[in-house]
Amino acid sequence: MYEIGHFIHGKKVAGTSGRTANVFNPATGEVQATVALANDADLQAAIDSALSAQPKWAATNPQRRARVFMKFVELLNQNMDELAVLISREHGKTVEDSKGDVIRGLEVCEFVIGIPHLSKSEFTEGAGPNIDMYSIRQPVGIGAGITPFNFPGMIPMWMFAPAIACGNAFILKPSERDPSLPIRLAELMIEAGLPAGILNVVNGDKAAVDGILAHPDIAAVSFVGSTPIARYVYGTAAANGKRAQCFGGAKNHMIIMPDADLDQAANALMGAGYGSAGERCMAISVAVPVGEETANRLIEKLTPMIESLRIGPYTDDKADMGPVVTKEAQARILSLIDKGVEEGANLVVDGRGFKLQGYEDGYFVGGCLFDNVTPDMEIYKTEIFGPVLSVVRAKNYEEALDLPMKHEYGNGVAIYTRDGDAARDFASRINIGMVGVNVPIPVPLAYHSFGGWKSSSFGDLNQHGTDSIKFWTRTKTITSRWPSGIKDGAEFVMPTMK
Ligand code: NAD
Repeated sequence: MYEIGHFIHGKKVAGTSGRTANVFNPATGEVQATVALANDADLQAAIDSALSAQPKWAATNPQRRARVFMKFVELLNQNMDELAVLISREHGKTVEDSKGDVIRGLEVCEFVIGIPHLSKSEFTEGAGPNIDMYSIRQPVGIGAGITPFNFPGMIPMWMFAPAIACGNAFILKPSERDPSLPIRLAELMIEAGLPAGILNVVNGDKAAVDGILAHPDIAAVSFVGSTPIARYVYGTAAANGKRAQCFGGAKNHMIIMPDADLDQAANALMGAGYGSAGERCMAISVAVPVGEETANRLIEKLTPMIESLRIGPYTDDKADMGPVVTKEAQARILSLIDKGVEEGANLVVDGRGFKLQGYEDGYFVGGCLFDNVTPDMEIYKTEIFGPVLSVVRAKNYEEALDLPMKHEYGNGVAIYTRDGDAARDFASRINIGMVGVNVPIPVPLAYHSFGGWKSSSFGDLNQHGTDSIKFWTRTKTITSRWPSGIKDGAEFVMPTMK
């Protein structure tokens, strides 16, 4: 058993609330740690620390701020194995998946090393007689991030790296399910040279989130998690006058055209549907083969691959996927699968009974494949967030396109085809934020930006890329007149009096 507190003003602290939550080992079902749940006093301590440190950090020149991230990237690489295990033992995913989690965050830290260039401003010489006009971007002050359990490394870094590089102080409220890694990241930031108070980690639940949303000293809030909470955080933050970007759930489709390379498509579906036990916001959860023959061939290829998935604890380095995160998540996924059967979908591969010897109390769910799913079914409408792939058969391209177009969510989508015309038409017409052409999980790289449409995202600026620099800064535009007229004799009259 170990205890996880908060990270405030450069060091770990226990917190004062007396409230804690259990942190489980998803592979065994055992409680392995407790995490402190912050109260208002804990949050205030983090804010006091941030307020004391931020002005000096904002006045630190951007090259020096960038150097902290250069060192931080080096430390992430040096400590990669340890960091990945910290994630896996609380999240449950394989160590390889956890390394990916750290690496996708690390890439955004590399991106913000460019902050001297990224934060350069615009200047117009001679906007009028002797008048220059320029816009500068200044940090918002204190930013906050509220993050989900499924990427405890990547998503905190997507938020705090640009926020801090822009000269802000940052308060991170990670998921209470896997809180160890964010605390370790904060320690490494201090080791990399970040002054105390610029990155504080406050662990907690709804009370901590509500404290952040109500606090007058927090200027901007970034949230990633489920859609109902994203909607709530966005509405509350906006009502309290804060800038907010909130990213929610997903139901990502992959269209498989009759001309697609089916081996490639089936392989892609295995990684995108079952990797990380389907607990990714960019997981593919709906496959849409076009035409009966494509559908039959696809099911034929997928079935043995799903049946032979190797499922195990993170300590099994050959496992393809691990357990899901909590007992509640497991129960929810299993009940949705039951519902799909009740509704008449054809459960071709049934993973409900999966048990692993020695890990009988772990939160495992075997890979599941549904065929003949229809858009009115609960399993189609709801984000299952587990290792469950639904096949919806479409007669033609237009019918296939219509499915993601009409779905509530709009995070990611993919098309598999050899036809450039179809791919181009699809990319142009689809109402979804991130599109893959023969790429199953089209997560944009750090220098582009990440964000969905429809109920997958609230707010207009995305994560990382140049959007993130805009989100964590505000514009000030200065109009100046030099010389002031001294050379020709000063004028002290209103311009309108001329
Ligand atoms: P979640 O919504 O349960 O929790 C996210 C955060 O909100 C956590 O920090 C949690 O403590 C807090 N929270 C939970 N309930 C709250 C409440 N009632 N009031 C205030 N705060 C609350 O999400 P999760 O289960 O941790 O993560 C999975 C979800 O996140 C999935 O829906 C997934 O699609 C989504 N997700 C989206 C993206 C994206 O970029 N769009 C990325 C990753 C995950």
